Amino acid sequence: MSSDLVIVYHRQPYEEVEENGKIVFRENSSPNGIVPTLKSFFGTVDHGSWVAWKLAEDTSNPGFDRVVKISDSYGDYTVSRLPLTAEQVRGFYHVTSKEAFWPILHNFRERYNYDPVDWPNFRAVNRAFAEAAAAEAAPGAVVWVHDYNLWLVPGYLREMRPDVRISFFHHTPFPAADMFNVLPWRKEIVESLLSCDVVGFHIPRYASNFVSVARSLFDVDDIERVRVDDDFISEDTGLTERTVPVVVVHNGRRVNISTAGVGVDVDYIRKMAALPETDKHVREIRAEMDGQQLILSVGRTDYTKGGVEQLESFGRLLEANPDLWGKVRLMHVSVSANRSMAAYAEIQDAIEQTAGRINGRFGSFDWTPITLISRAVPFAELVAYYRAADVAWITPLADGMNLVCKEFVAAREDEDGVLVLSEFAGAAVGLGSAVSTNPYSHRSMDRAILLALRMERNERQTRMRHLRKVVAKYDIRAWGEAQQQAFALAGKATTSGAD
Ligand code: UDP
Repeated sequence: MSSDLVIVYHRQPYEEVEENGKIVFRENSSPNGIVPTLKSFFGTVDHGSWVAWKLAEDTSNPGFDRVVKISDSYGDYTVSRLPLTAEQVRGFYHVTSKEAFWPILHNFRERYNYDPVDWPNFRAVNRAFAEAAAAEAAPGAVVWVHDYNLWLVPGYLREMRPDVRISFFHHTPFPAADMFNVLPWRKEIVESLLSCDVVGFHIPRYASNFVSVARSLFDVDDIERVRVDDDFISEDTGLTERTVPVVVVHNGRRVNISTAGVGVDVDYIRKMAALPETDKHVREIRAEMDGQQLILSVGRTDYTKGGVEQLESFGRLLEANPDLWGKVRLMHVSVSANRSMAAYAEIQDAIEQTAGRINGRFGSFDWTPITLISRAVPFAELVAYYRAADVAWITPLADGMNLVCKEFVAAREDEDGVLVLSEFAGAAVGLGSAVSTNPYSHRSMDRAILLALRMERNERQTRMRHLRKVVAKYDIRAWGEAQQQAFALAGKATTSGAD
C-alpha cells in the first residue's frame, strides 16, 4: 500500500529483539525522544511509511523482508528497510557524516576530516534511500527527510518523483557560509536541499545561514523575510536573529524555509515527574545529598557538548571557593555512544581524566565532588534527578537545540531550580530567563555557576516560572503543528509555482 506520508530517518522506528528464537519488533520503551514523536505523525494520515537502513551482509540477498507491516500504539504503518553492508554504513554514517559533516555543522573546522570520505558511497547510499522512499510514496505524498546524513536524498527523489512534496528537517545547527563552504561537496548538497518544498531548521540563525550559503553558491532570490517573534529574541545569546527568511526562489521554484525548534513532551514529563516512584526517588537523592547542593549535567560524550570545559570550570570553582568543599556535588552524565570512533574515545578519556584529577585534588573519604556516569540513565530516573537538582548545568560549545534543558524545566513543577545554559545551544534563543553562559570564556562559565549556586529563592522562582511558560508553549505538539503547516504550505507553493 502506498503512503501519504513517508518518513526517511536513518534508524528503524522500533527495537528489533529476539524472543524464543524469533525476531519481534518491540516498541521503544520510552515515548520520550524524536522517534516516537515522528511516529505520532502517522496518526494524521491514512497510511504512513518509514524508511531506514538495516545491516546486511549481502544487499541483494539480505536475508530479511525489505518491507514489513507494523501495528503498534501509533497505528498500522509500513517500514521499508534498506539493506546496507557494514562498510556502506561506516562510509556514509561514521566517516562522511560524523567525521566530515558533523564538525563543520558545529563550527569545529580543526576536527574536519576529509581524507577518508568515500563520496561515491555517500551518493549511492543516499540514492538508495531516495529509491526506497519513491517506492513507498503515493502520488502527491509528503516525503519527510531527516538530517544531514541524508542530504542528497531530496535531489535524487525530485528526479524520480516530481509529484511528491519534499520536506527536510535539520536536527543540527546549520553553519555560516565561511564554515559550510569548507565542504568540497557544498554545491551538490545545497542543490539537493533547494529541490525541497520545505527546508526546516530549529532557529532563525540556522535558516539565515542556510540562505546565505545558498546565495553564495547559486543565484537564489531571498524573496521573503519576516520579523522573528519576540519569544525568540534574547539579548543573552549570540544566536539571536531579528529577521528570518521564509521563502527563497531557485530556478523558478519556491522553497519554503521553516523555522520551528523541537520541543519536549511536557505532559508526559509532568506525569513522570508526579509519579509516586519518582517522588520516592527524589526523596532518596535528597537524603543522600544531606543538605549539599546538587549540580546536574547531562549530555552525550561529544566534543560539541563541552564536557571537559565544564569539568575544568568546576575545578576552578572549587579552587577559588574553599567554602564550597563538602557543600556541593556535580553529577556529570556523559553518555558514551561511539567508543569505536577515535574522536569520541579521545573525549571520553579526557572527561575521565579531568574528573579524576579534580576528585583527587579536592575529594575526601566522605566527599567526592564529581560523580561521573558514562552509561545512559533511563529517562524515568533522569526525571527524578531533574527534580532533585539545585542547578542544571548545560554548557555545550554548539548544539542544534538541546532537549535536556527543556526536560529539566518541564520536570520542575515546584518552580525551583536554576538552569545555567550555554548561549550556543539552539534552545537558548527561547530561554532568555536561564542564566546564560559562554562556554568559551572561563570567566563567564565560573561566574554563571557561582551565581546559580548562590541565587535567592525569589529569583529562582521568577526565572523558572518564565522558563516553564516558554517550554510549555513551544512543546513537541507545537513543533508538530508547525511541521504540518509547513507541509500544507508546501502543497500550495508547488501549485502556485507551476502556474
Ligand atoms: N538522555 C537519557 N539518558 C541519559 C542522557 C540523555 O535518556 O543518560 C536523553 C535525554 O533525556 C534527551 C536526549 O537523551 O531526551 C538527549 O537529547 P539532547 O537534544 O539534549 O542531545 P542530543 O544527544 O540529541 O545532542
